[in-house]
Amino acid sequence: MKTLNDFNFKNKKALIRVDFNVPLNEKFEVTDATRIVSAKPTIIKILEDGGSCILMSHLGRPKGVQDEFSLRHIVKETEDILGVKVKFVSECIGEKAEIAAANLQPGEVLLLENLRFHKEEEAGDRVFSEKLAKLGDIYVNDAFGTAHRAHASTTIIADFFPKSKCFGYLLAQEIESIDKVMKTGEKPVLAVLGGAKVSSKITIIENILDKVDHLIIGGGMSFTFIKAQGGKIGNSICEDDKMDLALDILKKAKAKNVQVHIPVDVIAADAFSNDANTQVVDIDKIPDGWEGVDAGPKSIKHFHDVVMKSKTILWNGPLGVFEMESFAKGTIALGNSIAEATKNGAFSLVGGGDSVAAVKQFGFEDKVSYVSTGGGAMLESLEGIVLPGIAAIIE
Ligand code: AMP
Repeated sequence: MKTLNDFNFKNKKALIRVDFNVPLNEKFEVTDATRIVSAKPTIIKILEDGGSCILMSHLGRPKGVQDEFSLRHIVKETEDILGVKVKFVSECIGEKAEIAAANLQPGEVLLLENLRFHKEEEAGDRVFSEKLAKLGDIYVNDAFGTAHRAHASTTIIADFFPKSKCFGYLLAQEIESIDKVMKTGEKPVLAVLGGAKVSSKITIIENILDKVDHLIIGGGMSFTFIKAQGGKIGNSICEDDKMDLALDILKKAKAKNVQVHIPVDVIAADAFSNDANTQVVDIDKIPDGWEGVDAGPKSIKHFHDVVMKSKTILWNGPLGVFEMESFAKGTIALGNSIAEATKNGAFSLVGGGDSVAAVKQFGFEDKVSYVSTGGGAMLESLEGIVLPGIAAIIE
């Protein structure tokens, strides 16, 4: 696996695919700069080597050229974060871009306009990829968030740099973190899967059964498992058409010696509302008219014990409807347990969609080993898929 450390960038122009797809408010100010901050180490290493950086990214989902999706809106924020002047060119291919790239001096940074202003980007067009490739000497992919897409700038472009392509620090760290769970993790390995639906996690569950010793299934997903085993789940969310699959998963887990932990009790609410009346009930005896919205105290205690004896922990998905304050306790308790286990030496990886939001919202970001920057890319990695953006660098 080639990384930045395998190259000296002195007098080289690094063409870096970053993920600067950051949220903007109505004044076009960046409201969460995490993705820009995450790319900083890569950019600084190249500048310190005596190279220059040409940054390419997408922003949003523009239909053709739309000024509201212009990357010029983020130039100032990027300058503030990097502490370096950032030049901007209002094209990503063609003469304008080529002149700007040719004029770039060691120590300088150039940001290209939104790649998705050209439909060829998402189509993975070869001609477009070749035009981008002309701009730099070494291709660096540091965009984990788009590594699961075979787009021009994330995958196809790598063909034009057979000997001079590598991962940036961020992408390398993402790969190493996933490998630590899926390949090299110290045992016992635990995966906590929560969230709303079994159907969206099924491939992940099937793939990780071969890698983990313990599996916690929490959140809305758990009710499909409980109903499939004959439990009463009241109005809780459930995918009836996935009940056979749930039983099959439990059977496979047993055959593979994976211990599955499902909540034993829940907070049941009489409405899907923060102000609903609540009661603690056994998860398989939820009264009609009530629905399970969070893990109960016995479950929290049991999950804590499982987390504390694990040496490698993957967390994806909340244990309850954490967006409502009244039903966030289970998710917060789990975060606290994982933070404590991490402090005691366990490796913990949080990733994929809502769990990242939960971890940030409740301040666990710095208390776990690694928080992944890619939602879909992370989920596909956990499904066992080799992401095209990663394969293109490794081959
Ligand atoms: P996912 O995107 O699959 O990780 O699902 C995250 C969503 O699951 C969050 O919006 C939670 O509110 C939701 N969720 C978790 N537990 C429950 C539950 N018991 N009932 C309904 N939704 C839930």
